[in-house]
Amino acid sequence: MKNQKIKIGVISALHEEQAGLVEQMQDVITIQRGMRDYVSGYLWGIESVCVLSRIGKVAVAATTATLIERFGVTHIIFTGVAGAAARKVRIGDIVVANQLVQHDMDASPLFPRFEVPLTGLSHFFSDKQLSNLMSKAARQFINEDFAAKITEQCRQEFYIDRPVVHQGLIASGDQFISTAIGLDQINNNLADVLAVEMEGAAVAQVCFEFGVPFAIVRTISDNANQDSPVDFVQFLEKIAACYAYGIVRQFYSLLKEEKRLPV
Ligand code: SAH
Repeated sequence: MKNQKIKIGVISALHEEQAGLVEQMQDVITIQRGMRDYVSGYLWGIESVCVLSRIGKVAVAATTATLIERFGVTHIIFTGVAGAAARKVRIGDIVVANQLVQHDMDASPLFPRFEVPLTGLSHFFSDKQLSNLMSKAARQFINEDFAAKITEQCRQEFYIDRPVVHQGLIASGDQFISTAIGLDQINNNLADVLAVEMEGAAVAQVCFEFGVPFAIVRTISDNANQDSPVDFVQFLEKIAACYAYGIVRQFYSLLKEEKRLPV
């Protein structure tokens, strides 16, 4: 990374999704804004602002806009957990978004279903370079850190064998998906959804509107079915933080090697 002044915004909805990062920061200043704590400083040597957005699309849209407008971040990453939406995606796998859609957006018949009015878009693309870097970071986490960081007991409890890193479509909406019917409704109307969650597509829309490159990474905590409320809570408690910290750490070390970042 040369001659580039970058400042990374790091967002998660919940504490466990970025636990440990703030403790790694140096020259920390915390500023409260709109009920959020924006912790700014240097994370592994790169200027960064870490913030918990709270849950849902509106919460994260407000947070994303504030990061851009008030804190001048040049790039945004979101790290968190999500429900699996495809058969091949399992608990413990990692999904990096290459596109995001709001599955609860419906202004039809005025606009096509899922299209965000006045943008002409239903699917928003994440930044290719950042997302590829994030996938590489996730693979490095699995290959280098996973065995040491996630106990055998945890792996057995969640039937995690060898986690896979997927790249594809993430669908977001203001619903915790915890029934097969709920998930079918999404999959029947949208093709190739890998994971469901509640913030990613809102980050994507705001970043698109402000022209800020972003990447979204999600660890699968549950199967978006009747077991989700229990799986989600257990996963969050025991595993999520390890993944999030490990992936972001790998991402930062890759960032430092990168010669040119998207602007
Ligand atoms: N019970 C929690 C709220 C969880 S909301 C609390 O009180 O703190 C679920 C969070 O995890 C959201 O931020 C969402 O992005 C993600 N998520 C994980 N699994 C999900 C699923 N099955 N459906 C929707 N969002 C999910």
